[in-house]
Amino acid sequence: MKTNLFDDAMRRLDTAIKHTDLNEEIALRVGTPKSCLEVSVPVRRDDGSLSFFRGYRVRHDDTRGPTKGGLRYHPSVTLDEVKSLAFWMTFKCAVVGVPFGGAKGGISVDAKSLSPMELERLSRGYIRLVADFIGPDVDIPAPDMYTNERIMGWMMDEYSTIRRQHVPAVITGKPVSMGGSVGRADATGRGAYYCARELAGKLGMDPAATTIAVQGFGNAGQHVARLLHKDGYRIVAVSDSQGAIYRPEGFDIPSLIRTKEETRHVQAVYCDGALCHSSNAANMTNAELLELDVDILIPAALENQITAENAARIKARHIIEVANGPISSEADEILNANNIGVVPDILANAGGVTVSYFEWLQNRSGQYWELQEVHQKLQAIMAREFHRIYDLHLAIGTDMRTAAYVHAIKRIGETMEAKGTRAYFANGSR
Ligand code: GLU
Repeated sequence: MKTNLFDDAMRRLDTAIKHTDLNEEIALRVGTPKSCLEVSVPVRRDDGSLSFFRGYRVRHDDTRGPTKGGLRYHPSVTLDEVKSLAFWMTFKCAVVGVPFGGAKGGISVDAKSLSPMELERLSRGYIRLVADFIGPDVDIPAPDMYTNERIMGWMMDEYSTIRRQHVPAVITGKPVSMGGSVGRADATGRGAYYCARELAGKLGMDPAATTIAVQGFGNAGQHVARLLHKDGYRIVAVSDSQGAIYRPEGFDIPSLIRTKEETRHVQAVYCDGALCHSSNAANMTNAELLELDVDILIPAALENQITAENAARIKARHIIEVANGPISSEADEILNANNIGVVPDILANAGGVTVSYFEWLQNRSGQYWELQEVHQKLQAIMAREFHRIYDLHLAIGTDMRTAAYVHAIKRIGETMEAKGTRAYFANGSR
């Protein structure tokens, strides 16, 4: 059965609300997105023909500030998916305490099938259609799957052309030379790495004796693997959309990254490159990687990878969710029953939006930070919120995901309460 992502997201919210004494209006408000925009982007192809691509931008909730969230290019993008991702962004921003609400956007397109110039026309065309709905104080897009800093640069440039002024703060994840922040490129992976370090500290894990499997070797997966490998953790399996490799002794992650950059095909890295032969890596499928007997499993690819179908076969002791929504709510129950601890996505992958916030601050102040400052501030936020959620999950006797939602909904609820609720008006309070 295909899981409806938005319904699944709502189930997590319902579970969390039961652990709070928040006013019922708060659940009602976050239960539906504030606005959903659907557009059709015309793109003149290199051969002269015209194609149209369906795009979306959903603003889920702006209680805590302008809405914030990435923009993905993927053939499977649907409104339902974008709504769920926007919902998660509201909670993610609240988890780390950045003053933003949640949004998300996407275009249903196979980006790899477009030429670089077609990609630029698509990106600029999308901005022309959504320009009235975004802005530094309204809604601030950022990169997500199959979008990158070059695309963010084109989009900022197009928006600035429309407004007839330089508006760097309208979008984050830009090239550093166009007002991007140093440290944004690896921020999602780095934030997850800080969570892994805190978890290891809590549980007294020894890096050299800790085995890790990483599903997905894109921007987030590569960086979390690189940083953990540097600390001496054993990364025994990695994968991309085409397949996985497994080596019980662990991989040298910097050479895997180098080879991937050179060949662009991870399968070639694994199977045809010299590296594969010298390391005697075994090939496996993505599904097999998920079921490996490792200490930590890091899903860093797509949604719905661990579902009711395969959850009972997961052998990892801990899961750190670097992708958005890799575990379905039904799978949560099975993993909980099997005592598998999950550091949830809305905490573990919040490093990206946290450094996006830093970028927005730098764009608005015109003062730019050193890399060390970005790393220190990110580490402080990730460690602080990890411990708050870890302690809360012990205090209320739930899994960490529920605790993260409780933590976030309390922050959102406080702001909503401050604006007035039914109880406030019924009592005629002043
Ligand atoms: N797309 C990223 C996410 O899902 C980053 C969002 C942002 O930086 O605004 O968290």
